[in-house]
Amino acid sequence: AAEKASEKDPTAAALGYKLDTSKVDKAKFPKHAATQQCSNCMLYQGKPADAFAPCPALGNKLVAGKGWCSAWVKKA
Ligand code: SF4
Repeated sequence: AAEKASEKDPTAAALGYKLDTSKVDKAKFPKHAATQQCSNCMLYQGKPADAFAPCPALGNKLVAGKGWCSAWVKKA
């Protein structure tokens, strides 16, 4: 099984990944909005209701549905 991405993984840290979208540093990421989270990101490789799913931006490690990173793209 894939391992969970840590906020401290170099790639995750560089992208400002947080397990909880409400914990994102607003000053550092002004484009972040509270409604943005992994489960509604185009890169999330799971169903919207899944608590965790792989993300190609973080080496296909598991990211939290309620998480966020600066590579977030609105799901079409
Ligand atoms: Fe979450 Fe999308 Fe960033 Fe992946 S790219 S960690 S799904 S916000």
